Amino acid sequence: MLDIDNLHARIDGQDILKGITLRIRAGEVHAIMGPNGSGKSTLSKLLAGHPDYVVTQGSVRFGGEDLLALDPEARAARGVFLGFQYPVEIPGVSNMVFLKAALNAQRKARGEKELEAADFIAWVRHRVKQMKMDPAMLSRGVNEGFSGGEKKRNEILQMLVLEPKLMVLDETDSGLDIDALKVVADGINLMRSPERAVLLVTHYQRLLDHVQPDFVHVLAGGRIVKSGGPDLARELEEKGYGWLQQAA
Ligand code: ADP
Ligand code: MG
Ligand code: MG
Repeated sequence: MLDIDNLHARIDGQDILKGITLRIRAGEVHAIMGPNGSGKSTLSKLLAGHPDYVVTQGSVRFGGEDLLALDPEARAARGVFLGFQYPVEIPGVSNMVFLKAALNAQRKARGEKELEAADFIAWVRHRVKQMKMDPAMLSRGVNEGFSGGEKKRNEILQMLVLEPKLMVLDETDSGLDIDALKVVADGINLMRSPERAVLLVTHYQRLLDHVQPDFVHVLAGGRIVKSGGPDLARELEEKGYGWLQQAA
């Protein structure tokens, strides 16, 4: 599904990613861990099409297509979803209106018809229920005055409504209490299927207790310095990253 080959990228003239090679097949969950400043958010934003990053070498293919040649809207329409480390607030635009616009923009880009209003509302309410959210949140401004946990829950709601193929989640677990973490993990697990894949950026083992990854990679200094299975995350929790950075 996603084929990243020798990817180099810079921002403001500074090289951040220094040769990332990563293959994600449909159905797989990959966790990316690593110290602060190693390039995890850079990789996530680059995949979503953030304009500030310049790719200097390498390639990214998504379903066989050159992902880097597509604008962010086209990437979203093909099913790439990025969850932000710090979800944005859009005061004055209700969650319901936002979700409807986002979903219909995707459908339009795929040449599909807009959903009937009643069908859309039923669909969103179904997802809200699954996320154990208060339906009143739908009429509030997007993330406006939401707590950290509510923002994260809202982000996963967006994901469930849009049903992306590739979910890139950048530190979706940061700042969450155990209950919120469980809800987020349940949302990710709901979306797990043989047709979808997840790239999960996280600092902590505790999310991975609830979302079992197939592969764990350590990003340090813009390179993947180690890859392994779920045991690698537990080893990192114990030993930290120092031993790997020395090896890198
Ligand atoms: P992580 O998510 O792993 O903590 P980031 O991808 O956010 O790391 O950042 C990687 C590196 O890129 C950091 O050293 C950071 O300082 C640098 N960086 C991020 N944005 C900019 C920018 N606008 N200009 C220069 N350097 C940046
Ligand atoms: Mg960081
Ligand atoms: Mg980051």
